[in-house]
Amino acid sequence: MQLKIVEDIIKLKKQRNAVILAHLYERPEMQDIADFVGDSLELSRKARDTEADVIAFCGVRFMGETAKILNPQKIVLMPNEDAGCPMADMVTADDVYELRRKHPNAAVVCYVNSSAEVKAASDICCTSSNAIKVVKSLKEEEIIFVPDKNLGHYVSKFVPNKKFILYSGYCPIHDSVTSSDVDKVRASYPDAPILAHPECTPDVLDMADFIGSTAQIIDYAINSNEKTLIIGTENGVLHQLKKLCKDKEFIMLNNSMVCPDMKKATYESLFNALDKLQYKVELDEKLTEKAYGSLDRMLSVH
Ligand code: SF4
Repeated sequence: MQLKIVEDIIKLKKQRNAVILAHLYERPEMQDIADFVGDSLELSRKARDTEADVIAFCGVRFMGETAKILNPQKIVLMPNEDAGCPMADMVTADDVYELRRKHPNAAVVCYVNSSAEVKAASDICCTSSNAIKVVKSLKEEEIIFVPDKNLGHYVSKFVPNKKFILYSGYCPIHDSVTSSDVDKVRASYPDAPILAHPECTPDVLDMADFIGSTAQIIDYAINSNEKTLIIGTENGVLHQLKKLCKDKEFIMLNNSMVCPDMKKATYESLFNALDKLQYKVELDEKLTEKAYGSLDRMLSVH
């Protein structure tokens, strides 16, 4: 049954000339059926550069929107219409305009985990992989950073000459990890390095041995000589870690680091997406152009 649907998806993918992209937080089987698996930055680049006619995006809405903004002539499909990101929903374009009124000399940097409207209202986007580089590339001395207060706080420590105005958003999954989780895991695995995502709170990040995006955490684990590593990001990343580092053991910093929205895509919803060409990401043309500017500026930062 399972195999039949996999075959059907692959057949449909060819018929539609589609590419399947999956985020590293997706279910293991969705990562395995995808043509490309990656973090937000890697997937943005794949979406921009693909020659396929259809992009089926196993991820959450802001990722599908980002693909559509970067490659608007393609059909972008979300297998699950209701796969959203609670952090992205915490800020609106009006919130950004209000902050701009209060801080007219500031540049607005928005984390890619934001709606197309927020991207259009911002000057430049960033991901957790490139946020420090993006902020350093700006001439403005004041930075409005939306929506993730934790990522913004982390970045601000690397750019002490700039003043940060942090929005109050956060990822409920990463923000829920506490310093007592770190204490507990340290007590059980005193020698294992703790690798944390910058969406975690400053308290947790202060106790981590390495801080990086999901892709950077994977790179660190691959290159580490340690046999046991503690993972402080969404548990979907364990799938690639176990595939790429067969001789290593991975322990979650907190077992509740599971994003329900990232687990919505299934074989069935992906099959339906390719079969019925649903759910299409549709964006207003002017909005797309403005949001493209923010993403394009980000992708030109090296
Ligand atoms: S893990 Fe956090 S930031 Fe990522 S989609 Fe889920 S809620 Fe949003």
